[in-house]
Amino acid sequence: MAIRILAPHEAAKIAAGEVIERPASVVKELIENSLDAGATRIAVEIREGGLALIRVADNGCGIEPGELRLAFERHATSKVASEEDLWRIATLGFRGEALPSIAAAGDVELLTRIAGNDIGARVRLRDGEIVEEGAGATAPGTTFTVRRLFGSQPARLKFLRAPGAESTQVSSVVVHYAMAYPEVRFELTTDGRMTLQTTGSGRLIDAVAAVYGGDVAAAAIEVDAPPANESEPGVRGVVVEPRLHRSSRNYISLYVNRRWVKNRSLTFAVEEAYQGMLPVGRRPIAVLDVQVPADEVDVNVHPTKAEVRLRREREVFGRLQRAVRRALTQGATVPAASPGLWGAPRTPAAEAPPAAEPQRPQPPLPRPPLAQRLGTAPAAPSVPMLERLPMLRPVGQVANTYVVAEGPEGMYLIDQHAAHERVLYERFLVAARAASPDAQPLLEPLTLELAAPQRALLGEHAAAFARLGFEIEHFGDAAYVVRAVPPEIAGGDVARHIGELLDRMGRDDIADGEPSHRVAASLACHGAVRAGMAMGEAEQRELLRLLEAAESPRTCPHGRPTMVHLTADAIAREFRRT
Ligand code: ADP
Ligand code: MG
Repeated sequence: MAIRILAPHEAAKIAAGEVIERPASVVKELIENSLDAGATRIAVEIREGGLALIRVADNGCGIEPGELRLAFERHATSKVASEEDLWRIATLGFRGEALPSIAAAGDVELLTRIAGNDIGARVRLRDGEIVEEGAGATAPGTTFTVRRLFGSQPARLKFLRAPGAESTQVSSVVVHYAMAYPEVRFELTTDGRMTLQTTGSGRLIDAVAAVYGGDVAAAAIEVDAPPANESEPGVRGVVVEPRLHRSSRNYISLYVNRRWVKNRSLTFAVEEAYQGMLPVGRRPIAVLDVQVPADEVDVNVHPTKAEVRLRREREVFGRLQRAVRRALTQGATVPAASPGLWGAPRTPAAEAPPAAEPQRPQPPLPRPPLAQRLGTAPAAPSVPMLERLPMLRPVGQVANTYVVAEGPEGMYLIDQHAAHERVLYERFLVAARAASPDAQPLLEPLTLELAAPQRALLGEHAAAFARLGFEIEHFGDAAYVVRAVPPEIAGGDVARHIGELLDRMGRDDIADGEPSHRVAASLACHGAVRAGMAMGEAEQRELLRLLEAAESPRTCPHGRPTMVHLTADAIAREFRRT
């Protein structure tokens, strides 16, 4: 086929695809622009996972009407004045790619006003082209609205998860910026409901309380290891006492110079610092910022800047690990009223002196009452949501024990037994909570004899067994009559199932001591597909589908991992493709 150069709008779509993968990428770019603009308030609103609407409103410096068109040009940026600036990036943005990329992906409307100007400006774009331009009335700052994201890219739409999962991703982005910039008041509204609100007090601990709730904030320990000299990395933030832990690494939030990064090595440094303090398979909660000189970090290695290259990664690793370890072994929890941790309150750009006009009326949002902040703050997003899985496609089975799957974020090796265990466990818990359990009556009541330890366990957990669908009656001495069991074990040798289940309960140690959890976990383990069992493609697909729907798909009920995830980047790195 003849070679031809892509038309600018075609090239723009391709480049846009790298920056804008999903609604959360749009939100990330817009928040970064608002922060670069010096905003002290950022309100994010999404509908239908961001596909129907994304709106980010800030009170930052605004854009000159005369520069509006330029802002949507590729490689148009106000943040890099010369080539040298590129090697010491101090702003979150610098490539001038976000606005044209977003405009190529959805319908955009931008309303902006500089504090000194009497009137604002407005543009509307469709398919990357300006279709309307003029004056607009608005408060100082910038409001960016995106509608019909990927509306003209059905292929991209297909790869997105359900709106609920996209909302979760957006929430994760907002949450991470809210913790990096506690001096900025963040709000997130999802389908009309306010789901996050930070105070903008400038104290990290307040942001952590808004995000994770008061229990986590009360267990937070301050980390403050300032650089001893100019070239040494500094570390600051909070780590949470090891008595609180999670099954996923999503609660280790890392920043380099306040840029949220995903970095396996630094994550590992934090986990190393908790060595021996957490149960197996459990992960800590931490929010940590590493400060390095701007010329020692290359943020230009990844389209969305989520990965950075550190010039002295080993040193940063060691410094981070030691700082966390020291805080854990010596630190005290952060008192609720500790002075400014991590950044002082910002002077809003739009309100910076000399203000050319009276400030727009902006009453401070009422701070939620202390009890609310410390208890189950309604603002705290439902935390386990962050752990949900993307859509996976089975590739095959290895050693009749592991299912290999592919997802948008790389490759997954899934332990079929652990995964099925997780699925059954959650199903049993739902059944246990339901008013009427799913009980399958036996055609004929079954009599069985139990050993003393089995009898003790059954007696101790009688209510839990009943709630899970067992109807078992003590008949005298060691004898019991079984009239109904959960459908999952109704087939086959029911007496043997029950005996084995009780034996397993005796061996299992479930950290969560609640009786119905314990029974459900043992029942799940008993009922789950075994390692060594061949599974057809349809069965593999079914297992993945069930796992995707699970609340905490990444661990089995005993806290062991259900999967090993190799990200596309990690694979590329192994092959030295990057
Ligand atoms: P970059 O952030 O890499 O400079 P963008 O495409 O994200 O590129 O934005 C282009 C330019 O538009 C920015 O450099 C900035 O001057 C301006 N801009 C974008 N968003 C805002 C905002 N919320 N407030 C003020 N200026 C903005
Ligand atoms: Mg930008």
